[in-house]
Amino acid sequence: MASVELRNVWKIYKGDVEAVKNVSWKCEDREFFSILGPSGCGKSSSLRMIAGLEEITKGEIIFNDRVVNHLRPKERNVAMVFENWALYPNLSVYENIAFPLRARNMPKNIIDEKVKAAARFLDLEGILHKNAQRLSGGEMQRVSIGRAIVREPDVLIMDEPISHLDASLRARMREELKTQVSRLGVTTLYITHDQVESMAMADRIAVMNQGEIQQIGTPLEIYHHPYTEFVAGFIGEPPANFVDVEVFVEKEKHFIKCSAFSFELNKFWSKQFDSKRENRIRMGVRPEDIGISFEATENCCGLLVDFVEIQGDRTIITLKVGDQLFLSEVLGDIRPETGQTIYVKFNQDNIHFFSLEDGKNLFFDAEMKS
Ligand code: ADP
Ligand code: MG
Repeated sequence: MASVELRNVWKIYKGDVEAVKNVSWKCEDREFFSILGPSGCGKSSSLRMIAGLEEITKGEIIFNDRVVNHLRPKERNVAMVFENWALYPNLSVYENIAFPLRARNMPKNIIDEKVKAAARFLDLEGILHKNAQRLSGGEMQRVSIGRAIVREPDVLIMDEPISHLDASLRARMREELKTQVSRLGVTTLYITHDQVESMAMADRIAVMNQGEIQQIGTPLEIYHHPYTEFVAGFIGEPPANFVDVEVFVEKEKHFIKCSAFSFELNKFWSKQFDSKRENRIRMGVRPEDIGISFEATENCCGLLVDFVEIQGDRTIITLKVGDQLFLSEVLGDIRPETGQTIYVKFNQDNIHFFSLEDGKNLFFDAEMKS
């Protein structure tokens, strides 16, 4: 087993393509660590450098206390599962999974044990003798996972392993993967662009954008205390709402104001803004943190309903906020009419304020302490 650490790692491809920019993080031994970010943000480049498949432009990669920069892929004991792992088409499922073990000249009976154990967990027992050519997409993914874990690697790298499965299988595979990986106790680096996968499976997540790390934390830390506007917008579905606002003080009370609404801030936020000079900032709030009522209540904001999407268990309400739109997510039995004015209250425990200049959460430290 191994911890995996990146220290100031860069990947610059030909033509000055900066795919990974000064990235540092450490995945602890046996941790399930997810790298999450949109397509093209440098996830695969990072993992290829860890596996030894791509040269490191600058920086160090460390397994336990050992710098592995110069080690060949074989010497790193890293197994990889890719999005489209090409299986050996003429071999059976059994032989595909057994392949890396045979390559190591393991005794037959041990190979058999290991292959069958992998097949049991991956639900492949019924098709062990099926030819790889005749497998469905989901089966192929599972065989490639079986082939990776059967070797008992120190580090298991999965690059979008279930992104191409259909939704119901994906949900099941999330659970299965998570269960099995924790049972194996293997250090796992899991790449995905799907925040639902990271949130559901990972011990910790590193959120990347444009080659840079935006935030590293547990799923709940990242969800509740986004370090940047990008993280706030990327995590959560439907996505968070953002609007530029001003802070003003009147009779020692602090207020937030934009063209569409104003409301008084609670004690926590008033205290924060007492010591901040910026008064033009961006507010972020998640759909589930916009409560609505049909009558005006204290400190509420009246907003016009632009669209109502009924989903059964919940209703997604689109609200007009000046020339922008906000989404509010409420229980399914709340169903306003389009064109109606409703009254919203922001859950101030879960609003965030970002710098207009660099997108950073202005009060991240205070949020984490509260
Ligand atoms: P992700 O896995 O997050 O989608 P990648 O690491 O594959 O991102 O790619 C990051 C950036 O590097 C992208 O802009 C991509 O086009 C570029 N890139 C990836 N591989 C190469 C390569 N071999 N040569 C040049 N540019 C590359
Ligand atoms: Mg990729």
